[in-house]
Amino acid sequence: MTTATYRTRAPAKLNIRLKVIGRRPDGYHELVSVMVPVGLFDILELDALRNNRIEIACEGFQVPDNEDNLIYRAAASFFSQTGIDKGVSLRLKKNIPVAAGLGGGSSDAAATLLSLNKIHSNPLSMSDLHDLAVKLGADVPFFLYCRPSLARGIGEILEPLKDWPIYWYVIVTPPIRVSTSWVYGDLKLELTTGEYDYILSTLKSDPFTVSHVLENDLEQVTSASFPIIDTLKKLLMDVGAEGAIMSGSGPSVFGLFSSFDQAISAKKALISQDLGDVFIAKGWEKQAHSS
Ligand code: ATP
Repeated sequence: MTTATYRTRAPAKLNIRLKVIGRRPDGYHELVSVMVPVGLFDILELDALRNNRIEIACEGFQVPDNEDNLIYRAAASFFSQTGIDKGVSLRLKKNIPVAAGLGGGSSDAAATLLSLNKIHSNPLSMSDLHDLAVKLGADVPFFLYCRPSLARGIGEILEPLKDWPIYWYVIVTPPIRVSTSWVYGDLKLELTTGEYDYILSTLKSDPFTVSHVLENDLEQVTSASFPIIDTLKKLLMDVGAEGAIMSGSGPSVFGLFSSFDQAISAKKALISQDLGDVFIAKGWEKQAHSS
């Protein structure tokens, strides 16, 4: 057991594409999604405790500082699965907006699992961690690997996308919270076939055109109640984005830029509109042995 403070970063994700292809008997939706981690990070610090308590403190964007926080649930599931009779003190700095379609809670949960496993000398394999992650949430497995991926099933079947281009992303999060379950509940599901083949061939096409990939089935639901989604997409396109789309169930909207300079001037233009928090983040990938 490591006794020094362990510090790690938990990135946000963006859904470049999200197609809902069916509904399972257990109520979960089957999807095909292109997901990328980006360099907008929550910061997590852990100190191992000799007693078996899980302590939690949060700052930044507001999240529960009790058993409802996903980092608490992730830690509890780690100790229960391993049988390790110890505890942990968790400090979370929330820089990723909450309930914003950026996957912050799922990322924090994955970071907690990975960090505890490292602190305790890897009692769980990646496959064990994957099993725990799915039980915490459909997006949690993606954050164990933190690389551009094609996700299927409920999000737990992941294939790395090695050639995903490097972009700068300008992300705008308007000041509204969107409940993921409300969005899925209001979705008019249309029968979609051939989505997996379509996306594989589009990703391989030469020249690669990112606008052929950008599509989010959940956007129709969120934008019907919140017209700001379409406003933000248009603004991002007007300031030179190669494409713009809502992430996850929203309300965050992002634009893709190939150059940093273009992204910076887009960010400035969006800030002047005062429609929400504006972030600039580069596509980010976890190195195989980094924390
Ligand atoms: P999803 O699409 O999975 O709902 P999201 O990015 O839209 O992801 P999150 O920021 O992960 O949403 O938060 C969803 C809900 O989870 C919020 O209601 C929040 O209070 C709760 N939550 C619990 N723990 C956390 C955490 N560590 N960070 C963010 N939210 C958390």
